[in-house]
Amino acid sequence: MGEAELPRLTVIGTGYLGATHAVCMASLGYDVVGLDVDSKKIERLQAGEVPFFEPGLPELLSKALASGRLRFTTSYEEAAEHGDIHFVCVGTPQQPGSDACDLSYVDAAVRDLAAHLTRRCLVVGKSTVPVNTAARLAGLLHELAPAGEEVELAWNPEFLREGFAVDDTLKPDRLVFGVASEWAHERLAAAFQPILDLGTPVVVTDLATAELVKVAANSFLATKISYINAMAEVCEATGADVRDLAKALAYDDRIGGRFLQPGLGFGGGCLPKDIRAFAHRAEEIGVGQAVSFLREVDAINRRRRSRTIDLVRELLGGQLAGKRVACLGAAFKPNSDDIRDAPALDVARTMHGLGANVRVYDPAALDNARRTYPELRYGTSALDVAQDADVVVLLTEWAEFREIEPSALAKVVKHTRIVDGRHALDANTWRAEGWEYRALGCP
Ligand code: NAD
Repeated sequence: MGEAELPRLTVIGTGYLGATHAVCMASLGYDVVGLDVDSKKIERLQAGEVPFFEPGLPELLSKALASGRLRFTTSYEEAAEHGDIHFVCVGTPQQPGSDACDLSYVDAAVRDLAAHLTRRCLVVGKSTVPVNTAARLAGLLHELAPAGEEVELAWNPEFLREGFAVDDTLKPDRLVFGVASEWAHERLAAAFQPILDLGTPVVVTDLATAELVKVAANSFLATKISYINAMAEVCEATGADVRDLAKALAYDDRIGGRFLQPGLGFGGGCLPKDIRAFAHRAEEIGVGQAVSFLREVDAINRRRRSRTIDLVRELLGGQLAGKRVACLGAAFKPNSDDIRDAPALDVARTMHGLGANVRVYDPAALDNARRTYPELRYGTSALDVAQDADVVVLLTEWAEFREIEPSALAKVVKHTRIVDGRHALDANTWRAEGWEYRALGCP
């Protein structure tokens, strides 16, 4: 297909997902307009600045802007005029006080876009939504768009991982096209042609299945993590060692070792809210029992956070109040500055609330953490926050924490005690250096 025939794309919502999608599609040769209601974010992106931490994305953004194939706007009119295909990438967070998904951003985006759609085009949902949302949005588009039923809706769930977002977008494991017509299928294929040309597997299905694939995938991953963490609980009660248990399970290739690492559990802007929203949606449509195990997956995950605090308290001889606690990590996972539902900050805040003198360091997430939790104290490095600490707690498994020399840390702390919430360190090495080392699920 010649460049002139490439469909023109818009990306509505330029957060982690949308900004990555817009930049990557422009890098593949598409003419892309990114839209957000956050004018500050749009200004930063247009100036070549990625407003969050994502390896490789800043370089790609600069190139895409220089190529003239990418620009950003806050105008729905401009976006509607530009796009043959509109990708909806706005947030779908958990509703405050409920497990349900907050669809108000998606609804607002679709309504505001629809008002300006005067010609045939495809609107593609990428946000993670409760099943049957797409069918409702299709009705909304037909009702509100001046072009009426000329405007079609498709669903293309997104599986990118923060920290690997560029690679996951340009070389995904698979594409899922939820479509209601052959025309929508052809349009989506045109929007992903360079990626399809790599031999990327594609599953073409209906709208409801496409919506469900995403929440089913996240539910499976969350379940796998909570499964090994449930085994860690049993290990803790029996003196067994979950690290050896996990290693032995992982050799069975029907089980596999990925997402089978025991520790402080999952967090972030996706897994926790997605499994809750799925359980909630299933209850609404009368199949709550089918996924009721997700409630337990969530409960196991939350218990790891309190168990980590128990380990810290045990190492401190039962008393947290007044003790200096050095927390290594704030982001919900390494290679990210995302602190949404971050286990690390949940643990740090709870210990602070219990009267501990907590100091936090993270290589990328400090600005976000400071803004959201100004009540906590922060430092500039692991060694900085560990000054005079009664205990060190590793909460996010950044590579730089794995490389800390036990002897270097020993020089600055008050007591050589460490809780490794992520099994990131070698227990034998730390113990040999005189540290009291504790980890979840291990003797
Ligand atoms: P985000 O909060 O980083 O970004 C959402 C963006 O949407 C924000 O910039 C916000 O200003 C914008 N927005 C809100 N309302 C808008 C409107 N009416 N019009 C235009 N823009 C609007 O969220 P995210 O992490 O990018 O997630 C977006 C969606 O993608 C969610 O459904 C999420 O579950 C899904 N998802 C995220 C990831 C990930 O790793 N972050 C991966 C796969 C799927």
